[in-house]
Amino acid sequence: MSFNIPGGSGMTSARTRARLVERLRGSGIADEAVLAVIGEVPRHVFVDEALSHRAYDDVSLPIGYNQTISQPYIVARMTELVLGWAGRGRILEIGTGCGYQTTVLAQFYKTVYSIERIGGLAKGTRERLAELGVRNVRLRHGDGSRGQPDAAPFDAIMITAAAPIVPELLVDQLAVGGRLVFPVGVEDQELRMIERLADGYAETRLEKVRFVPLLPGVA
Ligand code: SAH
Repeated sequence: MSFNIPGGSGMTSARTRARLVERLRGSGIADEAVLAVIGEVPRHVFVDEALSHRAYDDVSLPIGYNQTISQPYIVARMTELVLGWAGRGRILEIGTGCGYQTTVLAQFYKTVYSIERIGGLAKGTRERLAELGVRNVRLRHGDGSRGQPDAAPFDAIMITAAAPIVPELLVDQLAVGGRLVFPVGVEDQELRMIERLADGYAETRLEKVRFVPLLPGVA
């Protein structure tokens, strides 16, 4: 794994990132491969320069358009969950935002399909990923709430915005064994995982979370 990091300020220092990794370990993230990737991806490149001093704090931060970059803990947690299934071919991410989670996923999967509804974010993120040298991402500007049937089946689907109800139709786009990980709810949200089994589905309810809403249409 290597990234072309523009600027090369002190924020890129291995020590700053190592502190974040230690914090995530303390919060219960146990997958060493996930921790190693968090320790390598330059999160400061995904936020505005004015916020780069907070880029390695375990917090979500604004990225414009009323959206946020997810908290590193939740990125690590959701990544750990999808990686619990062995398939490493295709993953679909709904809600690209600034592309931080996308970049983490791109270190594990052959191809990441990612959909973002806000045109300005999709454009900026496409440029950022190209600059970083992340090449195995197919980024689309569109409404991801119906998934991407023409690229299915996926080994995993991750939604990084909260749907008001369980997005059942996406489950059909999973390979057998594949996992859908998503936040659900409006005010009170929780993380859930649905696994597609040979003869049905298994749903697991996980921790309370706080995400921006999954919205219909494009902007
Ligand atoms: N994955 C990001 C988190 C982005 S926040 C990270 O790494 O930090 C969630 C994103 O989902 C926002 O950019 C929002 O515009 C987008 N979004 C919301 N509804 C959507 C939809 N229906 N289709 C695609 N993207 C959507």
